[in-house]
Amino acid sequence: MKIKLYNTMGRQLEEFQSIVPSHVGMYGCGPTVYNYAHIGNLRTFIFEDVLKRMLIHFGYEVKHVMNITDVGHLTGDGDDGEDKLGKMARETGRSAWDIAKFYTEAFFKDYDSLNIVRPNIICEATKHIPEMIALICRLEDGGHTYVSGGNVYFSIDTFPEYGKLANLDLSRLQSGARTDVDSNKRNPLDFVLWFTRSKFGKQEMMWDSPWGEGYPGWHIECSAMSMKYLGEQFDIHCGGIDAIPVHHTNEIAQSEAATGKIPWVRYWLHAEFLLSGSTGGKMSKSSGEFLTLPLLVSKGYDPLDYRLFCLGAHYRSQLQFSYQAMDSAKASRKVLMEKVGQLRLACSGKELPQINGSETGWIHEFDESIAADMNMPKAMAALWGLLKDDSMSAEEKLAGVLYMDQVLGLKLDTAVCEADSDLDVPQEVLDLVEKRAMAKKSKDWVAADKARDMIEQMGFAVKDTPQGAKLVKKV
Ligand code: AMP
Ligand code: ZN
Repeated sequence: MKIKLYNTMGRQLEEFQSIVPSHVGMYGCGPTVYNYAHIGNLRTFIFEDVLKRMLIHFGYEVKHVMNITDVGHLTGDGDDGEDKLGKMARETGRSAWDIAKFYTEAFFKDYDSLNIVRPNIICEATKHIPEMIALICRLEDGGHTYVSGGNVYFSIDTFPEYGKLANLDLSRLQSGARTDVDSNKRNPLDFVLWFTRSKFGKQEMMWDSPWGEGYPGWHIECSAMSMKYLGEQFDIHCGGIDAIPVHHTNEIAQSEAATGKIPWVRYWLHAEFLLSGSTGGKMSKSSGEFLTLPLLVSKGYDPLDYRLFCLGAHYRSQLQFSYQAMDSAKASRKVLMEKVGQLRLACSGKELPQINGSETGWIHEFDESIAADMNMPKAMAALWGLLKDDSMSAEEKLAGVLYMDQVLGLKLDTAVCEADSDLDVPQEVLDLVEKRAMAKKSKDWVAADKARDMIEQMGFAVKDTPQGAKLVKKV
């Protein structure tokens, strides 16, 4: 199956071809751990998980690297703010290291409960300072940097392709640059690689460097760590769309300037924003207007309800959060789990048909949908279509469901129906349930009734519900 992905670089759908056949190197910008992740951040991580699962589903071996930003991310994108962790430390009287540890743990709790497959490599910025310094030295050797006012800057005028990801109109941006711009910059769009002076006093996280004691700029960490683990050129880089104009633009400039290898990354994928239910604007940590996953759980939602809610929209569309939409995701997931629970009950002890990807029908439709730039609403429609399809046997359906769930990640393999969870059902009874279902399907009412009687003689009763047959213990 040909996979098409929308490449932000060039703004078009492209057929995916990996640099090394059957292998994919993928980097996703991770969380800045100065606060809890909000559910908008988590939308981006769910998108990356679906992307990775889709590639694995089609036979690729994926090496997924994600960083943890625990230093260097300033409150303003223009190098004029305060380190986010440093600020939180100052405001709460805690150590920046403790804050990073606490919120990294909280992040992975959310990550795991959303059934997001952990990256192969998780790398903290603070553990890769030597790699960042080495990369800055390389840029310095190539004449791409200057030191001014105690900081090391990347000079964008040494990289003629600066701004290509965001289609930046440099002449307009430079002439209309903000008045509060750092006066040490030769060009207002230059950015800091290494800080030794901070207007916010002595900061806790500092390291020795050839330019003096200080700390790295935010962008350099992603270039240094991605290249360390994935090589100087790799396949996919992703994040949320807010990273396009500054963070990813600067990552490209410093990586390509350092190595001279262009393109550094083949495919750039970006997830659109989750919009806040109350303000209608982008959910953001800095505005203080944000919802967390534990908050949703405290209101009675399962984290997978949120995952299903996210699968209901294409990753390149904005998604408006509302509790009403969460209620309908919760209700849909309940029905889904019941239906799959029924199938699992009907199929217990039976061998399921193998799925090899050459199938027609719903399975083919599902594969086509995910290969088309991950059209998950269409893929979900294929799952529902399969579940409602009377022409398929329970075994065919269950095999299809489990195949699809490799990408959906909804833990459908754990679905249980009432009987499955609470009762120890003998195999003979399960066989009779299946026999009755088949008899009903072929309208053989005599055989169906006979099977029902035999089930009852064995101490169970079978009830027909809108979600399918349910087995209960006879009282
Ligand atoms: P941060 O922890 O701020 O570094 O952000 C982690 C990821 O979440 C980044 O890829 C951001 O681009 C992304 N992100 C931030 N806000 C939103 C939002 N409202 N909706 C979706 N993704 C977001
Ligand atoms: Zn990054």
